[in-house]
Amino acid sequence: MEGHCLCKQVHFSVSDDIVTVVNCHCNLCRKMNGSAFSTYVVVQEPQFHLLSGEVKSVQVSENASKQYCQHCGTPVYNKNPKLPGLTIVYLGAIDCGVNLTPVMNIYCESQLNWVTEIATLTHFEQGVS
Ligand SMILES: [Zn+2]
Ligand SMILES: [Zn+2]
Repeated sequence: MEGHCLCKQVHFSVSDDIVTVVNCHCNLCRKMNGSAFSTYVVVQEPQFHLLSGEVKSVQVSENASKQYCQHCGTPVYNKNPKLPGLTIVYLGAIDCGVNLTPVMNIYCESQLNWVTEIATLTHFEQGVS
């Protein structure tokens, strides 16, 4: 599988030998990504190859760091020494990420209440003008 940031300067590949796909509902991910929860594709470190472009690294907690494109800001992957040997890739950065399905929710103790109700909201095929 291949991946790109929004501006396409960062180009990477990941083996489709995925460890897991998770929705993380923790407060750190919510804050650092500005989203209700974050979906990650976890792969073994050697399975991730940065093919071109550069990522900037920012320390987001005592342990965790977030790597993002310095030009367009797309988050690419996270690293955490507490999860040795793993690279935590952002599902949205993987080109075929839309075809991947999370298999678990983690840090549900901080999950927003409305997340479980999302399917019951009024749906529009496109934005509302
Ligand atoms: Zn970019
Ligand atoms: Zn998290």
